[in-house]
Amino acid sequence: MSAVQQLVILGATGSIGLSTLDVVARNQQQFKVFALTAGQNAKKMAELCIAHQPRYAVMASESAAKQLSALLKHESKTQVMHGEKAMSELCAHVDVDTVMSAIVGAAGLLPTLSAVEAGKKVLLANKESLVMSGQLFIDKVKKHKATLLPIDSEHNAIFQCLPSALQNTQGQAKLGQHGVSKILLTGSGGPFLNRDINTLNTVSVSEAVAHPNWSMGQKISVDSATMMNKGLEFIEAKWLFNCDANDIDVVIHPQSIIHSMVQYQDGSILAQMGNPDMRTPIAHALAYPERIDAGVKPLNFSDICDFSFTKPDFSRYPNLKLAIAACDAGQGATTTVNAANEIAVNAFLQGQIGFTDIYKVNAQTLDAAQFTDAKTLDEILECDRLARISAAQFITKVVH
Ligand code: NAD
Ligand code: MG
Repeated sequence: MSAVQQLVILGATGSIGLSTLDVVARNQQQFKVFALTAGQNAKKMAELCIAHQPRYAVMASESAAKQLSALLKHESKTQVMHGEKAMSELCAHVDVDTVMSAIVGAAGLLPTLSAVEAGKKVLLANKESLVMSGQLFIDKVKKHKATLLPIDSEHNAIFQCLPSALQNTQGQAKLGQHGVSKILLTGSGGPFLNRDINTLNTVSVSEAVAHPNWSMGQKISVDSATMMNKGLEFIEAKWLFNCDANDIDVVIHPQSIIHSMVQYQDGSILAQMGNPDMRTPIAHALAYPERIDAGVKPLNFSDICDFSFTKPDFSRYPNLKLAIAACDAGQGATTTVNAANEIAVNAFLQGQIGFTDIYKVNAQTLDAAQFTDAKTLDEILECDRLARISAAQFITKVVH
């Protein structure tokens, strides 16, 4: 690789942000941290600024930024800023090459779009931004000649298994033109794959966030337990790989060794495998098309006892079915279900609703929504706003 890549990491204090910084620290001759951003955790951000000395650090609120400035006083020359606008501006900064989009939820949309509009190399972990804006997002990638590389382990695996002709078309070419007949999207089934389905209503927060294979942020951990995560990933795959719902099959693979597969017309199926560690897809995308050290141990096949596959059971995972139906229904539906789910998962994490209520809130919000097909950014943001209000109202009904 030639010049040093200047990086912005959106969501630096989170699970993906920290894994990204770990890979960067192992490859300092190739990557430099230009800016870090985070929500409220000023203490963690101060540690990161001292360790990585970015030119800028942005917190979501003014109070968190003040706290950070106080913590950094004599320790770092980092310039501290706050707010979404500052995050978006830094993503588009002329000195920046690459943006890691790893804010959780819809809050990631505008900074990520800013990076796309500036034609940057965008490493996309924040699947919610693509789910809520689909066509608009992909059109902007094409228009501004941005490079979009998937970080979600399944999509990164699929990307790695695609022929290079498809890797280079940024989701514009049809899979069938290059001999691909199917995308096999794998998922572990989360912590409740074998739990008695009648007891799912009593699931606690700590049980729901205890993923058997991956260590992740709270929201995506709950989404993995409901398999809404796989539903969001289904929609994400449709946009990233320019395919239809019937081009994608969801396969349950509890061991998370295969991260997804691509099936070809000649009967070949290519799989990407590895230990479940997000540093692998992060390193892949950072260095693409080259390879760098990610600090991840290789798989030891003699340690693998079970290697199994099943079909998802929609009665156990109704959120998966709902998301696939929303994918068929169009952008208004996917924006709505994404927003409702964010509100419902947050209410579950706060102890306001039960685990199985997450589906009820999502389904009722989708049923009640009167969206036209959200196309422009204003229509998308309005659709997202209305769905949040509606979901919050259903939650009040569940609580009382
Ligand atoms: P996390 O909760 O660990 O971290 C989220 C980050 O976003 C934190 O830095 C937080 O400060 C920041 N943030 C939260 N709200 C914000 C706001 N309003 N404004 C600005 N910043 C805000 O989450 P995570 O597990 O790292 O996931 C991040 C994204 O990556 C999600 O979209 C998730 O779906 C996706 N992803 C994560 C994994 C994983 O293994 N963790 C795997 C695939 C995809
Ligand atoms: Mg994933």
